[in-house]
Amino acid sequence: MNRFFVCVLSIVVAFCAFSPAPAAYADMAWEDFMPNEFIKVGLAYGSGAPASCEIYSDNGFILGFEDDGGIMEAFHLRDYTTITVKLSGRYATALSGDTLISDDLGVSGYILPYDYKDGGSIRFGGASYRGGLSFRPNPNNTITVVNLLPLEHYLYGVLNSEMGRQNPGEALKAQAVVSRSYAIHSFGDHAADGFDVCSGVHCQVYKGSSAEYSETSRAADETAGLIMYSGGKVASGNFFKNSGGHTQNSEDVWNDRVSHLRGVNDEFSPDYPWSWSVSASRLGDTLAAGNMGCGDISSVTVSGRSANGYVSELTVRGSQGSVVLKKEQIRSILGASNVKSLNFTLSSGSGTGGAVVSKPGGNAAGASRHALGSSGAKALSGKIYAVSAPSGGGEAVSAVSIGPSTAVLAASGTTQGAMQGTAQGVLQGGASGTSQGGAGTGDSPATGGTIVFTGSGFGHGVGLPQDSAIEMAKQGYSYMEILNKYYTGISISRREG
Ligand SMILES: [Zn+2]
Repeated sequence: MNRFFVCVLSIVVAFCAFSPAPAAYADMAWEDFMPNEFIKVGLAYGSGAPASCEIYSDNGFILGFEDDGGIMEAFHLRDYTTITVKLSGRYATALSGDTLISDDLGVSGYILPYDYKDGGSIRFGGASYRGGLSFRPNPNNTITVVNLLPLEHYLYGVLNSEMGRQNPGEALKAQAVVSRSYAIHSFGDHAADGFDVCSGVHCQVYKGSSAEYSETSRAADETAGLIMYSGGKVASGNFFKNSGGHTQNSEDVWNDRVSHLRGVNDEFSPDYPWSWSVSASRLGDTLAAGNMGCGDISSVTVSGRSANGYVSELTVRGSQGSVVLKKEQIRSILGASNVKSLNFTLSSGSGTGGAVVSKPGGNAAGASRHALGSSGAKALSGKIYAVSAPSGGGEAVSAVSIGPSTAVLAASGTTQGAMQGTAQGVLQGGASGTSQGGAGTGDSPATGGTIVFTGSGFGHGVGLPQDSAIEMAKQGYSYMEILNKYYTGISISRREG
């Protein structure tokens, strides 16, 4: 008999005075769900693990054990509404006021709200959670807090954080299937931490029953159990915000080729222009912080592009040599919120070297990128993001077009003003004298005091672009059609076994 039982039995007499007899709850498998339909979510772990914590339940608690994936009830604590969990030596102990409830909750012990089968919740750390909580001591005297609950109820607490309940129902249903598949595919990633998935952006943001809404819960219910399969296995449901017009092959962003993660043309993608201006010195510091330093930076060049035209390699030359960043490493080193996607071009914002134009090789004449070469030109459509081209008489003309409806031109010897909206600051400083570049010449190095990244899209580009899912739903497509467009060769069916 483990310490949990010894402890609880030692005080069960006290509980019997307040609680219904536990006999009626003797075999408390969570009857609506199969054993493999539960998930363990890390709520507080690593540097976020507390030394002690308080949990609350308006209708009392139940102590139980993890049993074949679900919960086996042990004792009812109907009349307690607050429990403090703290360490005593190597053990997590539970108290309510001065009353010792357990001197060792054990690795399989869970505390649940009394009404957990009826949708009741337990409060911890400012949020509410369905299901049970476990408290596992760590060697550094902190406690890892894990939430055990049915996978379907976990999705209730995920969907609004990952897509937003205001979006069309078919988009939410697509996200539900994706999030369910992603969670199951991620099982094992946190095995060393003692749970299946974490509650942060590393896995999927989960905020418990505090973040449940009728719209998102309906999306989960209406797709209950549906999972994407590829090649007979659960397909990873990778997703991101905005494709910028094309999604990416998995191997062009990460390493492995995954058969259902193929780049597809994305005609549903709303425009998502962005730019990032960074001084050469700050860029050097950023690289050094990522252990990719190369001294004082002299140039940055897009040295490789994938078949889809997105950047696959970036070469930075500096006073101490050069470094090459590849694929998603570009965003992870330089910052995924700075370089929002791999769909970008480079230009120089220096006032000394003139504006240097970079264009995706071979794409400059394409329908999606219009080059503007003379004053007064207008971008009628397309996604050209930064162009500077020489005009007559040594005068530089700089133009920036963001999205289909905005075209901005500034023509003078010093490239002044006239940037609008998100294009502001894309080209900085003077552009006089030595501007270079032309259509279809490929990527040229950006030099000078400021390097400007100008691009479209947001995220790694692999799998489902959420903005496009929302757009497809608005146009009347079903969640099945949405998923089949962005995941190649998948089947969608209920989980077996
Ligand atoms: Zn995680």
